[in-house]
Amino acid sequence: RSKSNGRNSVHRYEPELGRAADERLALSRRMRVALANGEFRLDYQPQVDLLTNRVTGVEALLRWRDAELGPVSPATFIPIAEENGLIVPIGEWVMQQACFQAQAWQSTLPGLRMSVNISPRQFARADILRVMECALTRAGLPPSLLEVEITEGALMAYGSIEMLRAIRATGVDIAIDDFGTGYSSLSYIRTFHADRLKLDMSFVRGIGEHREDEVITRAILSLGRALGFKVVAEGVETDNQLAFLRRHGCNFVQGYRFARPMVAADAHAFILNFNEGAVEYS
Ligand code: C2E
Ligand code: MG
Ligand code: MG
Ligand code: MG
Repeated sequence: RSKSNGRNSVHRYEPELGRAADERLALSRRMRVALANGEFRLDYQPQVDLLTNRVTGVEALLRWRDAELGPVSPATFIPIAEENGLIVPIGEWVMQQACFQAQAWQSTLPGLRMSVNISPRQFARADILRVMECALTRAGLPPSLLEVEITEGALMAYGSIEMLRAIRATGVDIAIDDFGTGYSSLSYIRTFHADRLKLDMSFVRGIGEHREDEVITRAILSLGRALGFKVVAEGVETDNQLAFLRRHGCNFVQGYRFARPMVAADAHAFILNFNEGAVEYS
């Protein structure tokens, strides 16, 4: 395969690419092992409702710590899993695990909602509906307590408005992740059939720093309000960012300002404690 044009060799002329390819291959192999051995884990990051100052939901975030490679970021391994197809079984595991956890929390945290990230390839498969419904049924979780997060980019690439409609018809909510970064035209969002927009953290980062980011943040907040979407701000780290978002009518916030993604037991303890003393955080 290295002599497609008769003389170029990947290894001879593009050592960087060769190494990157080797690394991806190694990651692919380890990922298969991790899946078989049950080495994936979910962390949960609280989302705070700014109207009530209570945690009303969590986002499930996939974690993988490989024995040889150490912790591998989902930003690194999810794209590879997309390519090698492992995202499908991994995604099914995530969906099931998140639903079990959400249901287990209902007795002490009634109404707590669970958000699960869906990758483009999962979204493009018709069986995502079956995967969702099967996970909900097995866990005994009402669909209204589940939300799936789909990036704006995935929506643009796969453009399946029908799929959004079908998911929503099951009673599961939809959030558009990384909103504002996906090059969709404004008129397109009318067709999104989503419940929430997740304002990308790159804009939040610029609050108090770059006027442009503040302008875009405010525009997305007012657009969301006008079109009937709730807005969740991601990556909120500072009091200043929080105050700005509150002032401009943001509905939910998620970020290190409140809590990092945590293992289930820690997330549970955090939410119980936070919701008891919610007044302090207002
Ligand atoms: P995302 O869905 O946009 O998730 C938000 C990311 O921001 C998470 O990174 C989270 O840990 C991080 N984050 C949250 N608050 C803060 C903050 O205040 N400051 C900063 N700097 N970061 C913050 P993480 O966990 O590394 O995940 C990265 C991406 O990987 C996710 O972006 C999502 O696209 C993907 N991902 C994670 N878990 C899954 C999964 O189960 N399935 C799929 N398909 N993708 C996943
Ligand atoms: Mg997300
Ligand atoms: Mg995001
Ligand atoms: Mg993302």
